[in-house]
Amino acid sequence: MSETPKQNSYDVVIVGGAMMGSSTAWFLTENPDFDGSVLVVERDPTYATASTTHTNSCMRQQFSTEINVRVSQFAAEFVKDFHNRIGLESAPKLGIRSFGYMYLADTEDFAETLRESIAVQHAAGAATKLMTPEEIKRDYPFYTVDDIVLGSINTVDEGFWDGTAVFDGWRRSAKARGVEYLSNEVVAMTKNAQGTRIKSVTLKSGEVIACGKLVNASGPRAARTAAMAGIDIPVEPRKRYSWVFAAEKPLDRDLPLTIDPSGVHCRENGGGTYQCGGHTDDDPAVAFDDFSMDHDFWQDHVWPILATRIPQFEAIKVTSEWAGHYAYNILDHNAITGAHPEIGNFFFLNGFSGHGLQQSPAMGRGTAELLTYGEYRTLDLSPFDYQRIARNEPLIEKAVI
Ligand SMILES: Cc1cc2nc3c(=O)[nH]c(=O)nc-3n(C[C@H](O)[C@H](O)[C@H](O)COP(=O)(O)OP(=O)(O)OC[C@H]3O[C@@H](n4cnc5c(N)ncnc54)[C@H](O)[C@@H]3O)c2cc1C
Repeated sequence: MSETPKQNSYDVVIVGGAMMGSSTAWFLTENPDFDGSVLVVERDPTYATASTTHTNSCMRQQFSTEINVRVSQFAAEFVKDFHNRIGLESAPKLGIRSFGYMYLADTEDFAETLRESIAVQHAAGAATKLMTPEEIKRDYPFYTVDDIVLGSINTVDEGFWDGTAVFDGWRRSAKARGVEYLSNEVVAMTKNAQGTRIKSVTLKSGEVIACGKLVNASGPRAARTAAMAGIDIPVEPRKRYSWVFAAEKPLDRDLPLTIDPSGVHCRENGGGTYQCGGHTDDDPAVAFDDFSMDHDFWQDHVWPILATRIPQFEAIKVTSEWAGHYAYNILDHNAITGAHPEIGNFFFLNGFSGHGLQQSPAMGRGTAELLTYGEYRTLDLSPFDYQRIARNEPLIEKAVI
């Protein structure tokens, strides 16, 4: 059911109230130099199709671009200090289950990419280490490593964290501090006569709301939202499958989030259960409401790969499964942020390509700074600026899962 906004004008209108929209709203309320009004418009407050509610909820520092390493390092800092920062007595104390991500390379080319990436990661202060197949077998005897050339893993601040608790904390705290969350949908925008500013958004229920600044935090629907302002961005909904299974004989130690060379990945989920994910080689853009499962893909592709890599996973039982959507940046698999160069009050928070949950603290903080001061004050997120898209100058992230 659509709600009616309390005002007809807001300093900041955020389109999309999931992880990115809520992070930005909350960081605005944290900033003593921001005293404007904030409206978060969310088309589905159950978040049934949002990426945020379908996630694997892991963080890593194993990226190929330095800025992505630093973005995740802030996530670790934020999550570990969440209770103190969020400003809610009832908020839980959080940690990171640092089982690490284990990248397995089966070719010399892939191994070389891991070596190049580790140099970037070390320069940013990450604790990643390379492992020979013998070292992998010594520390994780359950793997088959006959085909493996090299592995890389980081067990410091890399693994599972409770993204749901952070999402919930941001929303509750932002609302308590005066941010208005509206169940409604932005369906159109108007610009000034020069076409240099967004003047207003039109809601599905018909109201027209004036806005000072607009943030596009609409996940897989980001291109549709940008198109309302006449802007083209290369973001598509891509389907990603997840399965949780119980193993008849659980492993005797934590399973790192293992990225098999095939792209299938699997991690520790606690209590003798594991979470696994993957996508088909044919990876088209899908309809916004297409969450159908592909059972043959599991049966004929994913499970055989798992059982080959970890023979103990021959005897397992799937206990739950779902499909979710990445907001996939088809140009370079990286975030798109910052203001539009011509429409100066339109801000992007788009294209996170499967690593947006862990990026949400740094992205929300940075966007709140940009909205308040017109510049980044902590971590410089300008490598992700929309301008690179307009100039067709990709900032390629190679470590996409
Ligand atoms: C299977 C899977 C596993 C993942 N695993 C990880 C992981 O381990 N680590 C990690 O960091 N990231 C992971 N991700 C990615 C991460 O979940 C996303 O990058 C992140 O949640 C993006 O948040 P968002 O707020 O940008 O988008 P979303 O969560 O999709 O939210 C966008 C919101 O905008 C709303 N909206 C859209 N259009 C409108 C409109 N016109 N008007 C009003 N509201 C609108 C939508 O209803 C939605 O609630 C995973 C994603 C998937 C699908």
